[in-house]
Amino acid sequence: MAQGVLRQAAVGAPTAVPALAALVHDEALGHLRALLAIDTTNPPGNEILAARYLESVLAREGLAGEIHEPLPGRASLVSRQRAAPGNAGEGGALLLTSHTDVVAAEASRWTHPPFSGAVADGCVWGRGAVDMKSMTVYGLMAFLLAKREGWPISRDLILAAVADEEAGGEWGMGWLVNNRPEAVRAEFALNEVGGFTLHLFGKRVYPVQVAEKGLCWFRLVAEGEPGHGSLPRPDSAVARLAAAVDRLARRPFPMRVTPPAARFIRGLARAAGPLRGLFLRALLVPGLSGPARRLVPRARARHFQALLSDTANPTCLAAGTKENVVPSRAVAVVDGRFLPGQTVEGFLEEVRRRVGPGFSIETISAHAPTETSPDTPLFELLRETLEKADPGATVVPNLLVGYTDAAALSRIGVRTYGFTPMRLPPEIEFSALFHGHDERIPLDAFRWGLECFVDAVKRFLTEPRFR
Ligand SMILES: [Zn+2]
Repeated sequence: MAQGVLRQAAVGAPTAVPALAALVHDEALGHLRALLAIDTTNPPGNEILAARYLESVLAREGLAGEIHEPLPGRASLVSRQRAAPGNAGEGGALLLTSHTDVVAAEASRWTHPPFSGAVADGCVWGRGAVDMKSMTVYGLMAFLLAKREGWPISRDLILAAVADEEAGGEWGMGWLVNNRPEAVRAEFALNEVGGFTLHLFGKRVYPVQVAEKGLCWFRLVAEGEPGHGSLPRPDSAVARLAAAVDRLARRPFPMRVTPPAARFIRGLARAAGPLRGLFLRALLVPGLSGPARRLVPRARARHFQALLSDTANPTCLAAGTKENVVPSRAVAVVDGRFLPGQTVEGFLEEVRRRVGPGFSIETISAHAPTETSPDTPLFELLRETLEKADPGATVVPNLLVGYTDAAALSRIGVRTYGFTPMRLPPEIEFSALFHGHDERIPLDAFRWGLECFVDAVKRFLTEPRFR
């Protein structure tokens, strides 16, 4: 039913995303450069500096921001504008969320210093340009414009710029969800990883994240008899752990086609055209999926495999202290990820089956997968916005194999989409910018993204069809 309404409404809809005034773009660029110049490398984070900056920007417009600082320096800012009196519809709040912490940068490997906010060669450079201070600015600008232009909003609008996402979110969104849920509870949230250009066989695709795999980081522990290094034994803790790690690394988990992965791959297939589409669809067919993956570049193949199975990736090893002493304990840390439909317990059961008996497993951190249906008026609006702003491109709902703050938000029922629009040229691969050297965002991509973002937010908050 919602779709029929949407199609009718779309008849009279504008055919392009409205441009923003040059002054607004200048202002947004200024905020982005200022935020990039603030070193919020996590650890230690120091997100309080970004939170205070945003607080002062809001204060100049008469907007109150609340800073939550559960540990010294680890701060998140939240601000809210209420639906105009007499104009409130039935929908819950819309949350615009981003994280202000960034991962470390090796300054010597960068063309421009990572915390300079330099503008050069048509790009803004800096750690966080893509992940994800640009989105902080998208949210900030939409929030400011809503106030400044007096949008007659029919839902509450919440702005959140949170700490600690890069280290799991315990002191950021995780803390807010556990301790101040009412501050961030919303019907929908817009968050990172979505709305960027993916160039595929000469076609442009815009993935919008609707789901994330679950996570289970665990320690796999082998214990055995200690002894002298001159007397080897095949059942030592080290030997058994090594064999178990080898089993985990070499034997992929069984393929399982979940609805979000199928939607993503079918969406790519539709965009790719009939012949290549056929090939992409083969990825979803047991028996054909393996051979099909061998025909695509390694990095893509690994990604498809992660979309279609649980994974257990050994990442740390520890055992022994001296050359000639057989240690009694050997430990591997494993990064486990599991698809929607699986549970932490079910996943660990499968791990136990694979490594065999005689190991103990200690969970370090775990959370369930998240999934938001793309069958909502908001998702349709995001699709419409991107396809209007880049005619000929295709929007595809995406399953993220990593995780974001969406996982914490899903615990209080917030439905999150990844929507940080950026139109990227073919020579810039989005995923390579994440956590890489020379992280940067093209000025054009930022301007385009800001206009898409503001347009989508404004329409969702003010058009009668979304009330
Ligand atoms: Zn991020």
